[in-house]
Amino acid sequence: MAKEQLRCSFCGRPKAETNILIAGIDSHICDRCVEQATSIVSEEARASSKQKGISGLKLHKPQEIKNFLGQYVIGQDQTKRVLAVAVYNHYKRLQQVTKDDVEIQKSNIIMVGQTGTGKTLMAKTIAKLLDVPLAIVDATVLTEAGYVGEDVESMLTRLLQAADYNVEKAERGIVFIDEIDKIARKSDNPSITRDVSGEGVQQALLKLLEGTVVNVPPKGGRKHPDQKFVEVNTENILFIAGGAFDGIDRIISKRLNMQAVGYSASISDHKVDKENLLKYIIPKDLKDFGMIPEVLGRLPVLTHLDPLDKETLRSILTEPKNALVKQYQRLFELDEITLVIEDDALDYIVEKAMEYKLGARGLRSLCEVVLTDAMFEMPGGEEQLLEVNKEYALRKLSKTLLKELKAAS
Ligand code: ADP
Repeated sequence: MAKEQLRCSFCGRPKAETNILIAGIDSHICDRCVEQATSIVSEEARASSKQKGISGLKLHKPQEIKNFLGQYVIGQDQTKRVLAVAVYNHYKRLQQVTKDDVEIQKSNIIMVGQTGTGKTLMAKTIAKLLDVPLAIVDATVLTEAGYVGEDVESMLTRLLQAADYNVEKAERGIVFIDEIDKIARKSDNPSITRDVSGEGVQQALLKLLEGTVVNVPPKGGRKHPDQKFVEVNTENILFIAGGAFDGIDRIISKRLNMQAVGYSASISDHKVDKENLLKYIIPKDLKDFGMIPEVLGRLPVLTHLDPLDKETLRSILTEPKNALVKQYQRLFELDEITLVIEDDALDYIVEKAMEYKLGARGLRSLCEVVLTDAMFEMPGGEEQLLEVNKEYALRKLSKTLLKELKAAS
């Protein structure tokens, strides 16, 4: 067949009138028809996903979610259960086809626990399991509109970025708001340099948490004033807030004491676990800390993280799927070196992390100090085995000023 006679088999346009004519087995299609077909397909897909609830999202059962968390997060059993149920319910809600007046409300979550106990790790792990975009934002940078800092909408900019600007994907993603306690209302806050109380930010958060359509600047707010806004509906976005709420144990203890003295003597003094008062936390404690009730109402799932004890820290070093020790072993393996860290060395590292109150984050800095010399010297050398025992770890650690480490973490 002569080239001039080639035509699109769909619209009949001759090749000369098309930009591209793609050949099939015994037919051709032009670029315009490809475009049209694509839009028909995506429209159909959108319509059917509306009918069927959100498609392409695998619903994991709570026990599956908890088991998956268990591969990465050590301990925190209660939180894992609570999160697993909340996440399951949240995504079940997305997938249901509304047929009557029963409207399942969102199960946004608030996690309270000391820093470095695994709050961010939990949110990350859940996003990994569900394969949804995750934005981690720091509440300390958020300010009321008009103040220096970022508007609350910037959280959604981050989510859009995490979703490669696919709005549909972003609309079922997860936003992890770290350090939510930093926007607590502080009536006696002497600071005049920033948003006076944090309450304004909490107010701004309200609508987002509940579900609304927000105009989001896709490149981030104030630097690009000319950009077109993208509409993002937050109705199906799962918000997980986390914070250390330093000092909240005093509020809890006060409340528990009052209960013990007053009407309810059920939690009497000898039963109270004074080392871990967080386990008794209720929303009222957060309110007393300075969170406004409306925000708390929109973060209905409250859970706490336990402080990390020696055993947990020890397990964190070796047990999770991407445990620190496994990571270092892989790094050495890539240079064909076998790394063996003896138990006594691991115990020593944990001891130091406890002693200097470095928490789980400190484990990493300690390992780094212990192994840096070897990582510098061994690649390219003859030696193919590195055995680290307590004596070795002690020697390397005493070389570095532990105080420096402490200051840095
Ligand atoms: P948080 O958000 O509570 O301040 P992170 O989740 O960022 O703390 O934890 C910091 C690091 O400590 C994580 O990257 C992880 O390696 C480790 N870690 C903390 N808690 C745990 C835990 N329970 N299980 C496993 N690793 C943990």
